[in-house]
Amino acid sequence: MNTDISLTIEFIRHTYKTNAFIPLHAPQFDDRESKLVNETINSSFVSSIGKFVTQFEQDIQSYLSSNSAVAMVNGTAALQSALYLAGVGVGDLVITQSLTFVATCNTIHHLGATPIFIDVSKEHLSLCPRALENYLNQHAELCDDGICRNKNSGQTIKAFVPMHTFGHPAELDKLLVISQQWNIPLIEDAAESLGSTYEGKHTGTFGRFAAISFNGNKIITTGGGGILICHDQADAAYAHHINTTAKVAHPFEFYHDAYGFNNRLPNLNAALGCAQMEKLDNYVKAKRRLASQYQSFFASSRFDFVTEPSNCRSNYWLNAILLPDPALREEFLVKTNEANVMTRPVWQLMHSLPLFQHAERDEQRNASWLAKRLINLPSSPVLKAD
Ligand SMILES: *Cc1c(COP(=O)(O)O)cnc(C)c1O
Repeated sequence: MNTDISLTIEFIRHTYKTNAFIPLHAPQFDDRESKLVNETINSSFVSSIGKFVTQFEQDIQSYLSSNSAVAMVNGTAALQSALYLAGVGVGDLVITQSLTFVATCNTIHHLGATPIFIDVSKEHLSLCPRALENYLNQHAELCDDGICRNKNSGQTIKAFVPMHTFGHPAELDKLLVISQQWNIPLIEDAAESLGSTYEGKHTGTFGRFAAISFNGNKIITTGGGGILICHDQADAAYAHHINTTAKVAHPFEFYHDAYGFNNRLPNLNAALGCAQMEKLDNYVKAKRRLASQYQSFFASSRFDFVTEPSNCRSNYWLNAILLPDPALREEFLVKTNEANVMTRPVWQLMHSLPLFQHAERDEQRNASWLAKRLINLPSSPVLKAD
């Protein structure tokens, strides 16, 4: 076996101090999670009404210093809600990156809109402001009615959605300028980046909307869950309303004033989330410590460790390396997984899936380069005993 690969396996086993299977990312619970979940069961408030839902929203809000937070059944629902509130509908266009998890694009599709794939930058692994500007300059126009349209089709470009890949923040200052110049709302897919900051400010608080995921593999989990962050309080109030069937408050009458959804996070899940939020700072610390151990280790190998972009502090949700060539990457994936150390390639690019192959896109030079070389490594936080 290639010595860099066997040394990597040895290093990971040494770091996690186990001979058993090492997953990519496993949640960690102790008595605190059991206590709060049991409290919910004993209270009988297990569904979407209960004190933990409100507390969890407040915990996230104060952690992010955001104006609002609306807890949802999962990150996908939160993102779909964000797009819906931004007015994305049938026939619209939404700009995003091809290097993302399929959920980003599914939400666009389910609203009847079509994605446009713009390249990522190699440093941020996220929507590249230069590529975005190139596209808009060539193919879009800001019309007199304030709406940005595709010059060819006349379709409205309703939003753009950068995704903070593996927790590394996008180039948010430049993206915000473009958002203002072209009057296109910025929606952050911050599913992976809870705890990451860009110039000291939390990801998820830059766009008009953002979605964060609490799936079992994310930095904290509620089992399944997500949260919608809105810049404007009025948007948050409406999001809350339509995600609880748009029922108008009344002691006994059922009156609904919009086509609602039922996407609120149950109290049972929120209880788990409240316990996890108490540990988030520790997780971020532990994950950054692990990342710096990986970084030192890979300094003397042929594999390049992916570090946080400048001016950013990443939660290092998933650690990643770049392999020099696709053949060696294949060998790395096979050998590590055979050795019970879980690794995986980055997602296949969305434009290469039959689902999205007809979507408009630019050259995807960086995304294609990255997609052939990226590998994710085990990234569960290694918590120090007290
Ligand atoms: C996890 C994830 C989602 C979806 O979150 P769920 O809670 O699993 O629905 C969306 N986008 C990205 C980039 C993700 O990593």
